[in-house]
Amino acid sequence: MSLVRAVGVRKSFGHTEVLRGVDLIVDAGQVVCLLGPSGAGKSTFLRCVNHLETIDAGRIWVDGEPVGFTSRGGKLHELREREVARQRRGVGMVFQRFNLFPHRTAVENVAEGPVHVLRTARKEAVARARALLDRVGLADKADAYPHQLSGGQQQRVAIARALAMRPKLMLFDEPTSALDPELVGEVLEVMADLARDGMTMIVVTHEIGFARQVADSVVFMVDGAVVETGPPGQVLDNPRQQRTQQFLAKVL
Ligand code: ADP
Ligand code: MG
Repeated sequence: MSLVRAVGVRKSFGHTEVLRGVDLIVDAGQVVCLLGPSGAGKSTFLRCVNHLETIDAGRIWVDGEPVGFTSRGGKLHELREREVARQRRGVGMVFQRFNLFPHRTAVENVAEGPVHVLRTARKEAVARARALLDRVGLADKADAYPHQLSGGQQQRVAIARALAMRPKLMLFDEPTSALDPELVGEVLEVMADLARDGMTMIVVTHEIGFARQVADSVVFMVDGAVVETGPPGQVLDNPRQQRTQQFLAKVL
């Protein structure tokens, strides 16, 4: 079953069309790596999946529900704010910048959402936050403040924070691009772990090695459109399109 289905997604900013009919399918439990040059529209697409942008045409479904809409009596109606919030909660997002609360410890950062949004009892939320920090290899940093953590550790806290909301889908937008090279591996390892656990993920990345090892499929995007899609072995090692070949020649 497809957990994400995007059909003909269009989005303009002013007179510039940055998504020009994007189609994309992600099956439940699968990892899709979204590759492409800067300005291709990768971030915009992720933002549309997560209600951070509204689309001008086409449709995106997550877990069978049209993003931003509900169907009643065979018609689509725009969702009210509360319902939008409910849909958004089902999708975790990790950005290039971690944006942790600076005056809260790692465990407080992770427990925050469950306590305030899901109304989980604090004790329970904190216990689960500690378990999640353990899962990302940071059991011993639970009581540290963000400034006491490396970039890689902060990003792992950000992943734990997203997981705390029990998302059915995780979106990653260049999660390792802001990291020093020696810290990239620990974050990719946590993501690979998540993938092995069956999390459905869309990952925008330039880490070709990660895409090759972890992705079920690779989607290559240029100028607001999907140019090529397929298993990593095909798209990365045997690309059919010239644009894909040119891009790979630069990043590999
Ligand atoms: P990518 O993530 O692939 O680098 P983006 O989705 O960030 O690409 O951007 C695609 C295009 O849309 C770029 O030309 C960018 O300048 C433009 N863009 C993105 N967000 C906005 C915005 N809020 N307003 C105007 N233009 C935007
Ligand atoms: Mg981007």
